[in-house]
Amino acid sequence: MVWFHSIWKLAVPPKIQCFLWLAILNSIPMKVFLSSRGVHFSPDQLRCVWCGQVEECCSHILLTCPFSSRVWGYVLKWWGISWCSPCSLSSFMLAWDGCSFGGIIYKRWLIVCATSLWSLWLVRNETVFNSKVWDGLQIFFLIKLCSMF
Ligand SMILES: [Zn+2]
Repeated sequence: MVWFHSIWKLAVPPKIQCFLWLAILNSIPMKVFLSSRGVHFSPDQLRCVWCGQVEECCSHILLTCPFSSRVWGYVLKWWGISWCSPCSLSSFMLAWDGCSFGGIIYKRWLIVCATSLWSLWLVRNETVFNSKVWDGLQIFFLIKLCSMF
């Protein structure tokens, strides 16, 4: 799994590398994870802060939530890519091992993926802790901005 081992070589800040590592290990402190560690949530509190349809876990917040999917749609359109939405973070990362990009384009794409995941996490936290409402385009512009370092 190239992506998995490339995290520490990605040209992103160490805090994003650590975040990705924890995300792969499914150890981001989202509600389901915290609940498994003894933090009490009511069934309603466990639900996704954006869609309210399912329990909040890493794959849902970062990939499969309709809100996140809309953001990924902007990112994929920006890159001219179409995909079959992955159902989990590990399948998402595995899919990029077979990516047709090469060289610097592949490295840039991985940076975009990393900053997209990181941005979704930051926005999720803004929503949970500060009740801030974002729309998908705002997040997309944040991703573009963060991908340019
Ligand atoms: Zn959701």
